[in-house]
Amino acid sequence: MEYSGARDYLGKCVKTVNYSILINGEPTTPFDVAKGLRQGDPISPFLFALAMEYLSRKLNELKGNKKFKYHPKCSKQAMTHLSFADDLLLFSRGRSQFIQIVLFGIQAYWSQLFAIPSKVLSTIEAYCRSYLWSGTITITWKDLIAWNKVCIPKSIGGLGLLNIRLWNKVAIAKASWDIEDKADRLWIRWLHAYYTKNQQFSQMLIPQQAGWMVRKIFEARDTMALIQDTKSGSLIKQIYLKLIGDNERITWKILRFRNDARPKAQFTVWLQMHGKLLTIDILAPWEINVDPICNLCNSHDETRNHLFMECPFSNKVWEGVLKWM
Ligand SMILES: [Zn+2]
Repeated sequence: MEYSGARDYLGKCVKTVNYSILINGEPTTPFDVAKGLRQGDPISPFLFALAMEYLSRKLNELKGNKKFKYHPKCSKQAMTHLSFADDLLLFSRGRSQFIQIVLFGIQAYWSQLFAIPSKVLSTIEAYCRSYLWSGTITITWKDLIAWNKVCIPKSIGGLGLLNIRLWNKVAIAKASWDIEDKADRLWIRWLHAYYTKNQQFSQMLIPQQAGWMVRKIFEARDTMALIQDTKSGSLIKQIYLKLIGDNERITWKILRFRNDARPKAQFTVWLQMHGKLLTIDILAPWEINVDPICNLCNSHDETRNHLFMECPFSNKVWEGVLKWM
């Protein structure tokens, strides 16, 4: 084989790798590996071991979190995940919890270290959204509540999932603050030596020769300003919450905290409180041909309030529950 032929061939081997993830046994659409690293690459096992060690430690922290609900078949062993040579199995109860631990893994590892490209963030979000609303990993757009509302804290009406896009933005701003602050880290000393030199980091133009990642950190200087008046503690978390905004607290907080109902029932209540539960009155404008009458009493139209409060059948259920309590 001629040299150029061999080089192309090797190039193809490195650049045409793709991976697919199994979610509940179903493979996702394969995605390409953009950084040229693949299984079998001599450096790959070291990077994998480092990333997995950190991710495992972070996932083990979930055990101390009272809100975390184990997968029904994993609670006795207090098992959140299993890692094999190059596989990771995650277990939890409830779709939103599963999504949260996936996002948590990305946040804990990748997002603190790297600026994640917008296209990758959109793909992660699309998979998480589709899984939340349809239970499958086929990308759908059936959201009953917008994703950025799902990703706000429970106290202001969300599911408390992580807004990975915002988190990543803040993590980059933090890197930018560390540069301004001349934090004593090798990469920051390197950046000052090659890019900022004697200029003021916050004022200077973005260096033309800088790579994508360095440019992103320069672009984050606007958000960096928010860091200056933040107290000590987890800076990233504080700014993240600040950017989410000081939305009004929900009046039905009691239903969202210290509630031991199973996750599916809690999710239904959450939809109901947002007026998004698909009762027949909500389906009607979509011209879906369904009988409008309540299936429980067969005498009134099915509406959100009827189903939960006014229906004689529901009233009996409430009475029974109250007696039992
Ligand atoms: Zn009824």
